[in-house]
Amino acid sequence: MNDPTSTHSAIPALDFTEPQPGSDRRTFMVRSAMATAIGLLGGQVNPLFAQAPANAQPVKLDPNLNVVKQSKGPVMTLVDEFYKVGPGPSSSHTIGPMRITYDFYQRAIKLPQAQLDQATALKVHLYGSLSATGKGHGTERAALAGLIGYEPATIDPVAVLDKMQAEPNKTYPVKLGTKTINSSLADIIYDATKGDFPHANTMTCMLMAGDKVLLEQEYYSVGGGFIEWKGYTPPKKNPPKYPYQSMAEVIAFTKRDNISIAQLAMANETSISGRSEAEINAFLDKIIGAMRATVKTGLAAPTSTLPGPIKLKTKAGDVYRSAMAEQLPARKAIGIVSAAALAGSEENARGHLVITAPTGGSAGVMPAVLFSLDAAGAKVSDQKLREGLLAAAVVGYLCKHHATLAAAEGGCQAEIGVASAMGAAMIAQALDAAPQIAANGAEGALEHHLGMTCDPVAGFVQIPCIERCAFGAVKSWTGFLIAKDEIPANRRVDFDSTVQALAITAKEMNSKYKETSEGGLAVSLTLC
Ligand code: SF4
Repeated sequence: MNDPTSTHSAIPALDFTEPQPGSDRRTFMVRSAMATAIGLLGGQVNPLFAQAPANAQPVKLDPNLNVVKQSKGPVMTLVDEFYKVGPGPSSSHTIGPMRITYDFYQRAIKLPQAQLDQATALKVHLYGSLSATGKGHGTERAALAGLIGYEPATIDPVAVLDKMQAEPNKTYPVKLGTKTINSSLADIIYDATKGDFPHANTMTCMLMAGDKVLLEQEYYSVGGGFIEWKGYTPPKKNPPKYPYQSMAEVIAFTKRDNISIAQLAMANETSISGRSEAEINAFLDKIIGAMRATVKTGLAAPTSTLPGPIKLKTKAGDVYRSAMAEQLPARKAIGIVSAAALAGSEENARGHLVITAPTGGSAGVMPAVLFSLDAAGAKVSDQKLREGLLAAAVVGYLCKHHATLAAAEGGCQAEIGVASAMGAAMIAQALDAAPQIAANGAEGALEHHLGMTCDPVAGFVQIPCIERCAFGAVKSWTGFLIAKDEIPANRRVDFDSTVQALAITAKEMNSKYKETSEGGLAVSLTLC
């Protein structure tokens, strides 16, 4: 009999061995047959198939995490917490870990100098999904960058992160008061991938004096670049002008006060944060500028091979040029939106600066929607773009509040699905459609991503992620157009029910499809 795991078998045989205890025989046999068929078609069996457990455990979240507790009470998230600029390719695997190690460094330097004088090393341990797919995301480089004093929003990814990749053995001096120690990529440890962690993206940071621990902190990268730590208490905020927990309440407030979703969002931003409208608009302008820049840079980049083992060629520029030459308006429009999304997502895959909207993996969706509303398409004003970002944020906040933005918790529906829903709301708001149309458009876009798994090939945010951003952006437009052209009151599925479905599906999704690269395309695609 052929060895089914041999990469040299001409025709691998079915696996007749007994399934693992606790796993279901039918699933086991189907999986075995699939592995055989893929081996037959591809000429070799993907060795990951042999490693993927048939009975992967669902991810459990610690009820003490703020991200879990926050799902009660009114939405309190602010735009500057939500839209973050930082290096790709994943907000939870690059921006979050960099923020975490930067935070730990700030804590460490507050220790008394007598303790700092004993320090010999800084160590970071990565667990769960961070360990399973961190290598493909460059998590070790992001974590080291934070330790040596870089912040996501201001880092130059080419000068710092790409250089770390080119010089993996280089050591970097870290100043601890008057003492200096060295840190390197060897200090970032890929630890256990499975275990009873408080969150799927758990990290611990330690300041060591030989074998003695001077300072230790457990952290969680909870999605979208948000971070928490053991014992975290959220910063104090003022009550919102419009305390809402659901889209139904948002719509009710907009009707009562005859305002748009963007106006409601701006009122809450000012009341919760105490900042002025001018300050919030200045922040939104920075995000608009960053989104324009990511699309422009991605479209202008020559066709090249992305980093990593997939050797994936970029195509944003080619798709854009071809779309621009199209005569049929519909083909041209879809081509331009798709090209812009590919551009943003390819920038993310390069590890360049992107904007979490809501995450790094979905970094192409919202910039593409903005591009299609901007000078390249509908030519709306900057004020309308700001309003669009605010309405999109309300959609994202509600998904975060009741479900999740992290693929490690909910698969790709939580990233591209939410991004696409945000895009639909942004289009509706920027084109001055009624709040109900924005809500219905967002609902449609989210509904048609439900169940979508996260299965990045080789752990790199490239396949399926890059093209998935293009499909997500096009679905934003589809969601808006259907909502605009139907009678809004006739819609039978409301946004809040779909967010609930997102949460339920996330909870029940097998952990193999939650950014672990243990299922789906990650195991069915054979890299040669
Ligand atoms: S498959 Fe989706 S969720 Fe997973 S890394 Fe790619 S874009 Fe993110």
